[in-house]
Amino acid sequence: MTGTWPTALPSTIVGSLPRPSWLATPGEVFTSWRLDGPELAEGQDDAVVLAVADQHDAGLDIITDGEQRRRHYIWGFCEGLTGFHFSRLVKISARGGRYRAQTPAPRVTAPVRRPRPVMLNALRFLKARTNRPVKVNLPGPMTITDSVADECYGSRRRLAFELAKLLNDEAIELAEAGCDIVQFDEPCFNIYLDEVEEWGISALEEAAHGVRAAGALTAVHICYGYGIPAVLAWKNSNTDWSHYHHTLPLLEDSNIDQISVECAASGVDPSVLGLAPSKDLMVGVIDVGTEDAETAEDAAGRIRTALRYVRPEHLYPCTDCGLMPRSRRSARGKMRALVEGANIVRAELM
Ligand code: ZN
Repeated sequence: MTGTWPTALPSTIVGSLPRPSWLATPGEVFTSWRLDGPELAEGQDDAVVLAVADQHDAGLDIITDGEQRRRHYIWGFCEGLTGFHFSRLVKISARGGRYRAQTPAPRVTAPVRRPRPVMLNALRFLKARTNRPVKVNLPGPMTITDSVADECYGSRRRLAFELAKLLNDEAIELAEAGCDIVQFDEPCFNIYLDEVEEWGISALEEAAHGVRAAGALTAVHICYGYGIPAVLAWKNSNTDWSHYHHTLPLLEDSNIDQISVECAASGVDPSVLGLAPSKDLMVGVIDVGTEDAETAEDAAGRIRTALRYVRPEHLYPCTDCGLMPRSRRSARGKMRALVEGANIVRAELM
């Protein structure tokens, strides 16, 4: 592998898809499962089969497991570590208080360790069900740090670098087991711009170190959050969309192969895509905050706009963020529009 795909403009989703209603309450960011014990494990397997089938039906080129096994996109990894306590969640101010005043968070009460691989079996299950390239998401070190109540390290930077080591071990094992892209989710890169420059990029690079040599590309997903009411309210009142202007030049000089940029629903100036010319860019051409699916022509128009700033071989048409909060019908429609939009523009490139 490494960057050789069957088609130009390979299409992919950021990661998550809605969960079936028999598995979890639809739309909940912090999921409470409707099954338990062995029935939960079996239900999650079944949900992954459906998530893969929906992506195959839509025609996506790079496949995820829809994050069907995770209660939350960060907790899914952290629940496999030691040092975290999920039994009594506390309230913290996460994301700089941008989207909500208080967020439930696990506590870090002891040095963090990874006693065993966390996502490896899930990767094997996914690979057994598709012949297409696959992507696994891990939460990025800065974003994990911002999502927990630290009672052990006393420094966001120290905790982030400890987590980066564990993420790196996990990412290398995933790559060696045949994962094509390991993506780190770092929405905090659009919030803490000073910390991103001081240590956020370095922590991410530590997490990604050696992953390409082990067989996978690395990606970073940076966005303005899920398409949920609290986030949409912030987006509707926000006027400063300059965050990528700070982070993309820093990432251009990093070891990360691919960068995800939210372009469909934000007010981001697409010319910012030109600031990382050597990187692959996963460009969001699908808004994840609406139930109505875009048309193929909507997506094609956004891809054409991106092509003004990104060379075709570096452009990966994508969603803005995870589709988890949407209905399954909406997610299927949006994935179809994504693929058909890419097909329209691919034909124009020939
Ligand atoms: Zn996102």
